[in-house]
Amino acid sequence: MAPIKLAVVGAGPSSFYVASRLLSLLPRSGPHASSLKIHLYDRLWAPYGLVRYGVAPDHPEVKNCTHKFDEAATDPRLRFFGNVNIGTTSPFSYALPLSLEALMPYYTHILYSTGCTVPILHPALPPSRYCIPALSMVHWYTQHPSKPSPPPLDRTSHVTLIGQGNVSLDVARMLLTPPDHLAKYDVPMPVLDILRRSAVQHVSIVGRRGPLQAAFTTKELREMMNLPDSSMVPLDPALLAQVQGASLTRQQSRTLQLLQKGSKNKPGTTAKTWSLDFFRSPTGLTTPVSPSDKARLTLAHTTLDPSSRAVPTGESSTLDTDLVITSLGHRSELSAPWYDPALGHLRTVSGRVVNADGRVVRNVYASGWAAMGARGVLASTMMDAYAVVDTILRDHFPGEDVQTTAASGPESAADKAAEADALEVLPKEVDLDAIPPEVEAGLKEGRVTDFEDWRRVDAEEIRRGEELGKERERMDWEEAHNFLTKTRT
Ligand code: NAP
Repeated sequence: MAPIKLAVVGAGPSSFYVASRLLSLLPRSGPHASSLKIHLYDRLWAPYGLVRYGVAPDHPEVKNCTHKFDEAATDPRLRFFGNVNIGTTSPFSYALPLSLEALMPYYTHILYSTGCTVPILHPALPPSRYCIPALSMVHWYTQHPSKPSPPPLDRTSHVTLIGQGNVSLDVARMLLTPPDHLAKYDVPMPVLDILRRSAVQHVSIVGRRGPLQAAFTTKELREMMNLPDSSMVPLDPALLAQVQGASLTRQQSRTLQLLQKGSKNKPGTTAKTWSLDFFRSPTGLTTPVSPSDKARLTLAHTTLDPSSRAVPTGESSTLDTDLVITSLGHRSELSAPWYDPALGHLRTVSGRVVNADGRVVRNVYASGWAAMGARGVLASTMMDAYAVVDTILRDHFPGEDVQTTAASGPESAADKAAEADALEVLPKEVDLDAIPPEVEAGLKEGRVTDFEDWRRVDAEEIRRGEELGKERERMDWEEAHNFLTKTRT
């Protein structure tokens, strides 16, 4: 049987879901066991992508999927190589750069699971000291290797979030939750120190459409309503009255109920407040002449057109604020191979990567946000990953019933035709154990990390956390590198 030696670019949740699914569908006790190898490459030194560097610290239960990932990593057919950047430019000087061309000769299959790592910016709000993308906030409080500057919270009393998705609410919660409540979670001590010095008193969460179109989910809205030291500024009853009687989805009804009820704490009883500012779209930000003054955000008032798109009414207003945080979603990187600028992610059909002419690139796949764009929670990432595994197995074992899920449905005639015309870019036969010499050298130098390194860092972070009475205390690469070097046997 021809082998599947799969290089996965990216070691986030989608990548691990694909890997663990493949390993369990081709079990070590089964006939195909010895012809499967999976190598996960990530430019970050630690695995799990968005689970480590995206999930809000006060949602520790979301990170439970790492138990499944850890279990997959006990299978000797899976290897992890951290600090290896597959591509042309590496954002971290210490990550080993390796071109895709240098990787290809070693693998029969490649999967892109590189996510959507670029924040979408607002044309009227270029980044400045008064305007940052939400991703910088998330990367700050998760101590991401990109090391964004900490936000100047000690000089910030009013924050404006643009966008009403779950990332926006994650950031709002981090700004409004009392730091003592956050202290037991995986919030790095330097982050807690800054949150303790925060002067934030109000967070405006601005959306260009109305309550029925808000992208956040009810669980996250309820968490906002239950914040211990904050209250929501009540919505104009006329706004809620307007949407009564419309035929609503379950999610919309629950959202409306929550909005009508308002926050657990009544306005006027708390030091901190927050508001949902619907039907407002930014058109510009005037920065102050003196740093002690506020910036002035201009907001066009909007309404919905018949297709539920936001359109200006012609009216506008201004909002004085210290910091604008844009949270408008994310796209994949322009330099990602097979990136489609019109889509904001890679071009795929049923998980198979296709080139600009629509031709399938044989045995090259994409999964997760790299394939579908930045939407959905981890459960949808898992379902997508399983569907991509179905495609991989169907392509590799045509006619055989290797997979046990019908998530992706039967192969269509169009899929078959696309496969027949596929571009060949990968070898059919490879040394199953070989890795590129650069990676081999990087492992020896301690520049490239493996899963055993991660296990040791993980245990040490948890141990350090226990000493401080919290979930874990994170290391950055410098600390992790020193720790690994000192403790290497
Ligand atoms: P999102 O859900 O797509 O929300 C983006 C928000 O930005 C929407 O309110 C959108 O409004 C707005 N927006 C986009 N372009 C705009 C523009 N030009 N002007 C004004 N507003 C604009 O993105 P996200 O919050 O980054 O989340 C991404 C995915 O991750 C989502 O599926 C989310 O549920 C998931 N996630 C889940 C959790 C969790 O489970 N706790 C946490 C974080 C993220 P329109 O609707 O009008 O476009």
